[in-house]
Amino acid sequence: MKSTITITDWRESAACLDSDPSLFFPVGSTGPAVGQIAMATAICTDCHVIEDCLQYALETNQESGVWGGYSEEDRRRLRKRWLAKRRRRHLAG
Ligand code: SF4
Repeated sequence: MKSTITITDWRESAACLDSDPSLFFPVGSTGPAVGQIAMATAICTDCHVIEDCLQYALETNQESGVWGGYSEEDRRRLRKRWLAKRRRRHLAG
């Protein structure tokens, strides 16, 4: 019998799996949060599922925390561009 390995959920391979959640979901975006966000995004740069994570965050409009290497503010700006691109693609058929 042929055996296959199926990754059912990209989150199982997340580099942040055992990280302190407060790094990825800091309170606010100033003060201690600046360092926490920097540490979280540094972990993201070594993550093998960074693209899946970002795609999920954009599609499900995750407003809080660091996802896919992006802080809340950066991801908000990215999502506006992502939505505009998706709209153009949809209109083009
Ligand atoms: S990209 Fe960052 S937030 Fe997303 S799973 Fe990887 S380490 Fe976690």
